[in-house]
Amino acid sequence: MASALGGRIRTGAPVEAVTVRGAGRCSVRLAGGETLTAGAVVSALPVGPLRSVDVTGVSEERLTSLHRQRQALAAKFVAAYDRPFWRDRGLSGLSECEGVLGSTWPQSDGILSALVPPERLGVLLGMPAPLRTGELLADIARLYGDEAYRPLASFVRMWGTDPWTQGYVTQWTPGDVMAAGPLHGTHEPPFYVCGSDQWAAGYMEGAVRTGRDAAEEALRRG
Ligand SMILES: Cc1cc2nc3c(=O)[nH]c(=O)nc-3n(C[C@H](O)[C@H](O)[C@H](O)COP(=O)(O)OP(=O)(O)OC[C@H]3O[C@@H](n4cnc5c(N)ncnc54)[C@H](O)[C@@H]3O)c2cc1C
Repeated sequence: MASALGGRIRTGAPVEAVTVRGAGRCSVRLAGGETLTAGAVVSALPVGPLRSVDVTGVSEERLTSLHRQRQALAAKFVAAYDRPFWRDRGLSGLSECEGVLGSTWPQSDGILSALVPPERLGVLLGMPAPLRTGELLADIARLYGDEAYRPLASFVRMWGTDPWTQGYVTQWTPGDVMAAGPLHGTHEPPFYVCGSDQWAAGYMEGAVRTGRDAAEEALRRG
């Protein structure tokens, strides 16, 4: 998709700083020092990585609101089997667990997905990497039987420590909604925001809706 847009999309270009000086006078500094200038800036960053970007020229209230939101640090585990063996026991594959895994669900026929929730991510991080898959499969085996130990393939993804996501979805605790306040998900042209974290509850529909909204708003204001 990026190459079809003739070089207008840069990948592998981490943003370190954004300066907003009014319409037509925005700049974005990339890692390595290159600076791009633009008429407007649309931030599609999740709240965690955005906290690491030095943003100037945007009101203090907006930055306080953006920086007040927290993210859930989680990891994901997927195991693929040749068949959904858990059904032999009359089980659906959907569970809430007490091990390192917090929940499992059937992603498709024969494929089980599982999340390691924030309060257990530390346990996973402390596990020597070569032990992780075996211990997570043991969690699944305790639920569904020893066939769990023989996946065709499995994969652990440490979303919580990935520097470009720093987590899974927005995590709201009591008081957070009021603290992020009415500026949440709104724009301060020529500075616009979009992405799941600018929606009520994260997730794909939030990424899509806020992306459309920010694009519409930026086009409307020229
Ligand atoms: C394990 C897991 C399971 C999920 N399951 C579901 C599900 O079943 N249903 C559902 O609807 N949603 C699910 N989600 C949530 C959904 O994937 C996210 O809400 C959505 O992908 C976020 O989209 P986004 O565009 O806001 O952010 P992202 O897709 O995270 O995009 C942000 C982009 O910003 C880039 N970036 C970060 N920092 C910088 C920087 N400094 N400079 C330049 N670029 C930067 C990143 O590299 C990334 O490409 C899941 C997420 C996870 C992790």
